[in-house]
Amino acid sequence: MAKAEREAWQNWSGWVNAAPRARLKPKSEAALAEGVKKAEGPLRAFGAGHSFTPIAATDGTLADLSLLSGVESADLQTGRAWIKAGTKLRALGPLLQAEGLGLANQGDIDAQSLSGAVGTGTHGTGKELPSISGAVSGFRLVTASGEVLTCSENENAVLFEAGRVSLGAFGVMSAIEMACRPAYKLEESGGRMPLDRLFAQIDALARENRHFEFFWFPYAEEAYVKLLNESEAPAEQKRRVPEGENAPSDDFFRAACELAIHFPAKRAGLQALMAGAGKPLDPAAPRKGHVYWSHDAFPSDRTVRFNEMEFAVPAENGPDCIREVGRTMREAGYNFLFPLEYRYVKGDDIWLSPFYGRDSATISVHQYFKQPYEGLFREVEKVFHRYGGRPHWGKLHWLKGGELAGLYPKWNEFTKLRREMDAKGKFLTPYMKALFGAA
Ligand SMILES: Cc1cc2nc3c(=O)[nH]c(=O)nc-3n(C[C@H](O)[C@H](O)[C@H](O)COP(=O)(O)OP(=O)(O)OC[C@H]3O[C@@H](n4cnc5c(N)ncnc54)[C@H](O)[C@@H]3O)c2cc1C
Repeated sequence: MAKAEREAWQNWSGWVNAAPRARLKPKSEAALAEGVKKAEGPLRAFGAGHSFTPIAATDGTLADLSLLSGVESADLQTGRAWIKAGTKLRALGPLLQAEGLGLANQGDIDAQSLSGAVGTGTHGTGKELPSISGAVSGFRLVTASGEVLTCSENENAVLFEAGRVSLGAFGVMSAIEMACRPAYKLEESGGRMPLDRLFAQIDALARENRHFEFFWFPYAEEAYVKLLNESEAPAEQKRRVPEGENAPSDDFFRAACELAIHFPAKRAGLQALMAGAGKPLDPAAPRKGHVYWSHDAFPSDRTVRFNEMEFAVPAENGPDCIREVGRTMREAGYNFLFPLEYRYVKGDDIWLSPFYGRDSATISVHQYFKQPYEGLFREVEKVFHRYGGRPHWGKLHWLKGGELAGLYPKWNEFTKLRREMDAKGKFLTPYMKALFGAA
């Protein structure tokens, strides 16, 4: 069938497009194994298509994992749970809670699949908390030949070490074992802080709160700080927007984005206006916020679409780096309206994790989906390079093979293992080839 006649596939922002020749939608691990074995490459699995890079896209065979969903088993004693790979995080929260468990940390949305989140090192914030991949204690992997391998510290240990952030390069995960913790509640509080006070107190804020992050519009003098801390108070039910619908709370921001497209000179004033909304935060004062079960507390409904770049830099350099990013964005003259997001992630030992061997600060740059992003992001990427930044695999960057080898100490070992696992390149699209510098 000609490419134009095939059913199209798009990522969340709408900027990555593909026309797969074939599709798989397995209902079981056995069906997945059979499908992968017989599939014509390049084969990519996708979870929710929430990556901004084309890592899930293919014009070959696209494997939709959405029917591999649910908890296989959970053990309250060990805190470990085996979860089918395609389970969406939004569905997983209540399923784990029913078993008396919760994920130790999550990002700021929950639309992703577990395997998609794990595949790219998806993370939330917390100085003492690793990424979602850092909480993986085992997984089952369907290899290019259709074999199913169980990987953990004790079984196929090298694959386990490398495979917890593997961009789907070794095969397709069918199930993942997560090290969870007893179900818990979090109290959300926060408010705006002047930048000089925020940076003066940033270490204490990160140390004294289980989850600390802030959002900063580069033209504003204040940032919005969000804090989450454990609580024993009764939990409220969070009102969530059904998938695919717009959140009314986003209406003003969406209108501001549209306005700024046509009146770029308004962007500074609009950013200062939005940054000034909400209550001021005095971190030393007692405060009371909303309490939710953890899986409800972490995510927000992000219904204004955007493209995103994110780099992880050594934690101690985070404050300097974000200030330089903000300055660069103002001075470079590009039209943008979204705030920067700043978070902390604990270091880990996963080969291609952006947090490998170092506690990190992550800085995210967003651009409204109706506006071009490349000029702005490339300008900011230069700042991240000066700080030794490592890219988020699901977010936009322009780094390739040799450059990545300089950032990830285990890069060459990873690419060697990749060649062994996938000698015929079944999982290699042109994008993945370029990324890995593969022939
Ligand atoms: C609105 C929005 C908010 C976001 N917030 C955060 C955040 O707070 N923190 C953060 O770190 N990131 C965040 N991200 C990025 C996002 O978490 C990652 O890009 C994540 O990988 C997307 O998950 P997915 O299920 O959509 O995976 P996809 O994008 O579909 O796939 C991602 C990768 O995983 C691979 N993969 C998927 N399933 C499997 C499988 N079963 N076996 C092997 N490989 C597989 C794919 O082939 C691909 O390489 C956000 C993205 C968006 C759009």
